[in-house]
Amino acid sequence: MTLTMAKQYTIGELISLSAGYLESKGCSSARLDAELLLGHVLGLDRLDLYLNFDKPLSSREVDEYRQYIGRRGQRVPLAYLTGQREFYSLPIHVSPDVLIPRPETEFVVDKTLEVLEAGQPANILELGTGSGAIALALACQDPLFRITAVDVSQEALKVAEANAKRLEVDSQVVFLQSDLFENVTGTYRVICSNPPYIKRDELPRLSPEVQTEPALALDGGPDGLEFYRRILGQAASLLEQPGFVVLEIGWDQGPDVRAIGEKSGFTWLETARDYSGKDRVVVFQWA
Ligand code: GLN
Repeated sequence: MTLTMAKQYTIGELISLSAGYLESKGCSSARLDAELLLGHVLGLDRLDLYLNFDKPLSSREVDEYRQYIGRRGQRVPLAYLTGQREFYSLPIHVSPDVLIPRPETEFVVDKTLEVLEAGQPANILELGTGSGAIALALACQDPLFRITAVDVSQEALKVAEANAKRLEVDSQVVFLQSDLFENVTGTYRVICSNPPYIKRDELPRLSPEVQTEPALALDGGPDGLEFYRRILGQAASLLEQPGFVVLEIGWDQGPDVRAIGEKSGFTWLETARDYSGKDRVVVFQWA
């Protein structure tokens, strides 16, 4: 973005210039991102930005903002720039070591809550916790829930643990480095996961933003179904009776994942749709 050095820019002018720049770089929500990044730099929410539209900014503020806009123009996801994304109304800190929580993943939390009895203690296992979003949303719902949250990535676990401390639910959640069930012991009422489910040869076709996210959290193997086979092939021995498995899936994976679960002896309960009406979460019962 080229700015004239001597000129003092107002909030409104800077947002317009930056939105145009981001649009030219192919960012889909250019104006919103320009606003959110300026809010991040100035410590203001969007309403305050609008109320201060004509306020001139210092050259230090403009410089800092320009760096953020430059990186967003290189298609770094907004959440990695602000370091935060809201999930289940909770502020979840993120870094490039973790997948950015998606709104549709909130259905994994909803469906897990649905199979649990309200007000009863429950042991829950989350596989591939990443930022910890699912585990922490569950922990915040009920102090009686005990959650074991595993990830194969030590770096991801650091992010998740810091989130648990900040949200003050660290006494309810045990974090464990584990390749799926590898180091997991105990039995659980629910095993839930948003596993990697993108077909490997589709990874290079994802948006530049998604390509900055960890491939480890996206790559579901040649047919995208590898983690469903591994999870459903091993889950039964770690489940209480009755026990449940709640899995996020890609929009076209419902029938395949159902078949994998049924082949492993699970009873299919439901394939739930997300906000855009697409298949998103499969729920199974064991015994
Ligand atoms: N929802 C993610 C995407 O659309 C994929 C997440 C995953 O593989 N679990 O890119």
